[in-house]
Amino acid sequence: MTDILEAPASTKQITHWIGGRSVAGTSGRKGAVYNPATGRQSGEVDFATVEEVDAAVRAAKDAFVEWRQMSLAKRAELFFRIRELIHERKEEAAKLLVAEHGKVLSDAIGEVTRGLEVIEYCCGLPTLLKSEFSEQASTGIDVYSIRQPLGVVAGITPFNFPAMVPMWMWAPAIACGNTFVLKPSEKDPSASNWTAELLKEAGLPDGVFNVVHGDKVAVDAVLEHPDIAAVSYVGSTPIAKYVYETATAKGKRCQALGGAKNHMIVLPDADIDMAADAAVSAAYGSAGERCMAISQVIAVGDVATPLIDAIKERIPKLKVGDGMDPSSEMGPLVTKEHRDRVASYVENAPGEGAEVLVDGRDGVSGDGFFLRPSLIDNVAPGMKAYEDEIFGPVLGITRADSYDEAVALINANPYGNGTAIFTRDGGVARRFQFDVQVGMVGINVPIPVPVAYYSFGGWKASLFGDRHVYGPEGIEFYTRGKVVTSRWPDPATSTVDLGFPQTR
Ligand code: NAD
Repeated sequence: MTDILEAPASTKQITHWIGGRSVAGTSGRKGAVYNPATGRQSGEVDFATVEEVDAAVRAAKDAFVEWRQMSLAKRAELFFRIRELIHERKEEAAKLLVAEHGKVLSDAIGEVTRGLEVIEYCCGLPTLLKSEFSEQASTGIDVYSIRQPLGVVAGITPFNFPAMVPMWMWAPAIACGNTFVLKPSEKDPSASNWTAELLKEAGLPDGVFNVVHGDKVAVDAVLEHPDIAAVSYVGSTPIAKYVYETATAKGKRCQALGGAKNHMIVLPDADIDMAADAAVSAAYGSAGERCMAISQVIAVGDVATPLIDAIKERIPKLKVGDGMDPSSEMGPLVTKEHRDRVASYVENAPGEGAEVLVDGRDGVSGDGFFLRPSLIDNVAPGMKAYEDEIFGPVLGITRADSYDEAVALINANPYGNGTAIFTRDGGVARRFQFDVQVGMVGINVPIPVPVAYYSFGGWKASLFGDRHVYGPEGIEFYTRGKVVTSRWPDPATSTVDLGFPQTR
């Protein structure tokens, strides 16, 4: 466990994890891993070949034979051990996230804690996998349903939650009796190897959890592999669509979560300070690199001026710095390319007719991939700053004359991941929950990520597939149903009967 943390930066090699051990890549293709706070390369990660993905799938397929037979009681016991180990080492995991993603330590601990909630939910797997039984459905006949694992399943994950999003997938998948192949983001891959070592230490049999690193070659090998029954994907919308279309064309079950453009409506009756606190926290937390970040505030009526003033007042007080500095509230962006792309939206906003009120490029120095928070007013549909998912610390303000106009803007947006409304009017809030075409809705809550016993997922271009992740829908996704009809008649009563069986 500690070797990942303590290896000298220049020599840190991140390998695959197949069949319960580290396996060095053979392709010769590698990706550079950076410390975003310093801008220096900290390691390199192997990129898998098709054969290496195949080796991971074979290890998972072999392990499935025994894993699916392990009793629910033993599996649950193992999950409790996994839960305890991750809980004890939360900070160790969080430091890995800070080192490769750049988020601040408190935020990284929050990420691991929210992932842990999913593992805690899975500790109840005997209850989650309980089915139905109908005694005497017909005379002398009982009918019952059972849910069984799919086999080898795979997860493909993004850079922004390198520990939590994989936990959304591997925990319910393994709890349900599947074996797992993870292809994490190549930008911050170490958390996956840390997880693999921890699962082994907890007693998970070799081959149940495997990691292959890489890029499109590895992803395509996963999508093409005939022995992978299901694929969970989280990442940007174009790749989500590609993964969903390719996986389902190959007969796999697939859930592919995409990007977002989350709007927060502030109505004239809202508490201005509370709404400003929420907008600043949800827009700039984790440098805006959250799929549930608020990127667009819709200020309704005359709330715009006091709200903007309150947001502007808060921005200069935010401490931007290295995530390991306990006083930092916002860290750098994940790569230089991404930082420059995010900055380009601020650069181009005035040319599109918007007004930059706070320019996050000001006061940035050094080699780290930093950008300070930006605030842009009068951002409107048709502008790139409105249409694109910026995925950085840039908050746009749109003005609307009415609640109806505000909701129409959200419903016209191609994305439908998260949204929020700030108001003191319960009736309007309830109407919003009914009207809005979005999967996760916050009422005076800016980042409404569901607790682990509900399921997470957006609508429209934010999710391809029909099952959300974790919670009850996660259990459904990673299992398939079987219905058994049974009778134990006296053989002496047996006759030939060609009629269609009737349930009387
Ligand atoms: P990304 O789409 O670039 O990468 C995600 C995964 O896809 C990675 O494992 C990557 O290696 C792989 N990938 C990248 N390009 C590929 C290609 N051409 N072919 C096949 N595979 C490819 O996303 P990212 O930049 O790592 O993450 C940020 C994105 O993820 C944002 O759009 C964000 O909204 C989204 N996201 C969504 C959710 C959600 O729950 N909806 C959660 C987190 C992040």
